[in-house]
Amino acid sequence: MKTLYGIPVSPNVAIGEALIIDNERFRIPQRFVVHDAVEDELDRLNAALAAVSSEIAGNRDLISDRIGPQYGAIFAAHLQMLSDPQLLDELRGHIINQQYSPEYAVSLTLRRYAKVIQDLGDGYLAERADDLFDLERSLLANLLGRRREELSHLAAPVIVLAHDLTPSETASLSKRFVLGFATEVGGAGGHTAIVAKGLEIPAVVGLGRFLLEVSGGDMLIVDGEQGVVIVRPDEETLVRYREVVARRKDDVRILSTLRDLPAETLDKQTVRIYANIEFPSEVTVCRERGADGVGLYRTEFLYLSSDDEPSEETHYSAYNDVVTAMDGKPVVFRTLDLGADKLGRVPAAAQEEKNPFLGLRSIRLSLRHVTLFRVQLSAILRASSGGNVKVMFPMVTTLDEIRRAKMVLSDAMEDLEEKGIDFDRNIEVGMMVEVPAAVMMLDRFLPEVDFVSIGTNDLVQYALAVDRTNQEVSDLYQETDPAVLRLLKMTIDAAHEHGKMVSLCGQMSGNAHHTALLLGMGLRDFSVPPASILEVKRVLRSVNLSDCESIVARAFEMESAREVDQFLRSETKRLIRDHRKSSPIEKTVGGRG
Ligand code: PEP
Ligand code: MG
Repeated sequence: MKTLYGIPVSPNVAIGEALIIDNERFRIPQRFVVHDAVEDELDRLNAALAAVSSEIAGNRDLISDRIGPQYGAIFAAHLQMLSDPQLLDELRGHIINQQYSPEYAVSLTLRRYAKVIQDLGDGYLAERADDLFDLERSLLANLLGRRREELSHLAAPVIVLAHDLTPSETASLSKRFVLGFATEVGGAGGHTAIVAKGLEIPAVVGLGRFLLEVSGGDMLIVDGEQGVVIVRPDEETLVRYREVVARRKDDVRILSTLRDLPAETLDKQTVRIYANIEFPSEVTVCRERGADGVGLYRTEFLYLSSDDEPSEETHYSAYNDVVTAMDGKPVVFRTLDLGADKLGRVPAAAQEEKNPFLGLRSIRLSLRHVTLFRVQLSAILRASSGGNVKVMFPMVTTLDEIRRAKMVLSDAMEDLEEKGIDFDRNIEVGMMVEVPAAVMMLDRFLPEVDFVSIGTNDLVQYALAVDRTNQEVSDLYQETDPAVLRLLKMTIDAAHEHGKMVSLCGQMSGNAHHTALLLGMGLRDFSVPPASILEVKRVLRSVNLSDCESIVARAFEMESAREVDQFLRSETKRLIRDHRKSSPIEKTVGGRG
């Protein structure tokens, strides 16, 4: 058993077999063979070794003929590795002595060799480690033959392990078969993390190098709550985690009893809890959890999940589905936020930038490609005739940007009017506050918009100069940093002074231990991942505004994110516990606080 520590990004626990992508792209179904089958399994291994060797020899001859023997020598080296007596002994030993399947023996042995070579840390040797991975791939492909299972054709539940997963790869994971995932890189604020939470797939990222320690088919536990991955857990650990899973199911069932209770504090302050979505299909869960609307629809995922640039019709049809399903409740369409970690196949997106989060991203990209922007705005406007639609511009940094974006919106309106197409002329227009410059200039921005929504995922990275996707600096990526708290307070106060609605749609508002703090700062509109709606509701139903204001006063005296975080966690637990003792209705609504 081996325990690895990373960054928890999507809660709950997954228990299942590993499927390593990147290196294998298919899983090894069986780890052990029955005693009687050892001879047959050795034959299978020998056949695979012979087939791969002859394939490599063929390549060596072909390349030597075409471009010269010095290139053919690359393949000769592979052949040599494959006939190394020590390697062959080890492979066969695993099958004979441990009764491992040939697939498992291949994966284990070649990865062990690769790791030894990689640990030597030399550039040339690192390439030799890659050669071993190549051999592993070829042997596994041969051994598994038609039993190969590509990620998109999974037929049995697995835990996906990868060096990295892009947000669009994550978006394509089937919830039915992917129990959880874990990656070597990635940070808490990246869109991969956000999508995982949206899909409610337990996930841990930023584990550092670990793929060499795992083989496909290994049993795994992914604890997305604590950021822990346990490889080949012992029986006691498995039993303990199965209990955690059962408790969590109970918790979800109990929380669901809150669905139809009002979202209000003990002193009757009403609060709106909207949901953040990436895909139209998520509206079902928004409704199930009783969301007051969609506070953030990340529309760019339409681009990330398709090979072609979506037409206005494709946009419209997706948007209309969401608006119709929300049945009169507000839906805030955030215009394209492409770029940085969300590249997709959009020709307009900048593909190679040195500092993509500071580059041609989001509203900057939309304003650079006005035609693309206008297509989207037309579709949003058309959808506005069917429900309660608002439009919101992301990553606004300068007044000029918001003014130009509004002009493109006006042009799109004129177009539709000329064509006699229906839309809401009074559609509310908002902007995200996710760049410190916007906070500092908010008194100038507010007259330009009907509402603002705070994007803490970016605000934290831009305020603290820390890449939200980089695990190397993830300890600095803290939503409770005192500097961030001040920026939040400034934004909420400025919006109130101007009589404008302010919501918070960054992941911060979905963490229930932030609820009391945000309420105390004056926030009344929360937009959270659907999975968090009921947990946030539980906290707000357990507090008085005066408790929350005291929490803010105390938090503002603190000097570090860690101190604030610990304080908020313990206060939240205490408030829920106290409320549970005194409330007959919610006595049963326990939970983790
Ligand atoms: C944010 O930055 O907080 C936000 C909600 O937008 P995104 O996470 O999509 O960048
Ligand atoms: Mg953002």
